Amino acid sequence: MTFFGKLKKMMNPFSSTQVAKEEDTEKVEPGEGVRGRPKIHVLATGGTIAGRLVSTGPRYRAGVLGFEALLDAVPALRGLADYSGEQVANIGSQDMDESLWLKLAHRVNELLASPDVDGVVITHGTDTLEETACFLDLTVRNPKPVVLVGAIRPVGALGADGPVNLLDAVTVAVNPSSVGRGVLVVMHGSLFEARDVTKVSSSALPAFAAPNSGPLGQLIDGRVYYGHRTGLSPKRPVFDISNLDKLPQVDIVYGYAGASTLPVKALVDAGCRGIVSAGVGNGNLHRDVLAALANASGRGVVVVRASRIPSGLTLRNVEVDDNRFGFVAAGALNPQKARVLLQLVLTRARKPEEVQKAFDNY
Ligand code: ASP
Repeated sequence: MTFFGKLKKMMNPFSSTQVAKEEDTEKVEPGEGVRGRPKIHVLATGGTIAGRLVSTGPRYRAGVLGFEALLDAVPALRGLADYSGEQVANIGSQDMDESLWLKLAHRVNELLASPDVDGVVITHGTDTLEETACFLDLTVRNPKPVVLVGAIRPVGALGADGPVNLLDAVTVAVNPSSVGRGVLVVMHGSLFEARDVTKVSSSALPAFAAPNSGPLGQLIDGRVYYGHRTGLSPKRPVFDISNLDKLPQVDIVYGYAGASTLPVKALVDAGCRGIVSAGVGNGNLHRDVLAALANASGRGVVVVRASRIPSGLTLRNVEVDDNRFGFVAAGALNPQKARVLLQLVLTRARKPEEVQKAFDNY
């Protein structure tokens, strides 16, 4: 099935069963079946993929090169698509924030609505890439592919991975099998869904993993191989951000032996609307922190229990009585993604049951 055929079917909810069947058996070369050459729009935000080695001070600086330089550095990209692009920011993603998320989401929605764009590739620093991917996954409605990509080694370093990662990201974006899979992340030959991907190494090239679900596919010699069908839930919440210019204040408190209650108290006093606990084990809490969070919940702050453990689920009412304290359990979401979802849910609901439903449906 062609890229456009697939897109038409995704837009038509009554044809979803048929799509699933065809998708299961499909074998498609990159770009094959697209009417004319695919048109990919690159949104560049900075990061190591646009970073360069420097001779003084820190070893390298993230977010230095513009998007044209990134495209020019990989001649093989020209064989895959026609490109347009823009520099949305040029930062290390440690400086990513909500106003930039909203700007990106508005722009992605606008671009994908145009017949002149078949997919969007976003170059991004790896530090907070997973959070941006999660935010876009929850705010972009169009089924056209959106692929985030970064690099661990900057331009000029031996074995710089940016060029091949970018080529892989475009390979994914032009492939018809990428339509309707939600926001995707490509790093080091692996393809991930936004919901599960997380940075697991601050230095190794295979820096990303999806600890609960594994990668969605692999990139080998310029081809993408989808390993399993997407687990996108038909009930997946999608948030309309068209009228939003800021998000509610939600912060994260970290759990550890003998944890202090000071952060929770400070956040409540500061008027924080939601708190995500990065608890121990199954989102467990030191008894004093539990009491502080129960008090916060009683005062109308929405409390989500997540875990500092990289894999596994944070489930309701296991060792903590969520029903009694009005807490929400984060399920498979890590604390930083639970925060993203909570910020979005709080724009339209604040009852713990409603918030829990959004977490259960994602
Ligand atoms: N600090 C960089 C960033 O997130 C690291 C990277 O891109 O890998 O922008």
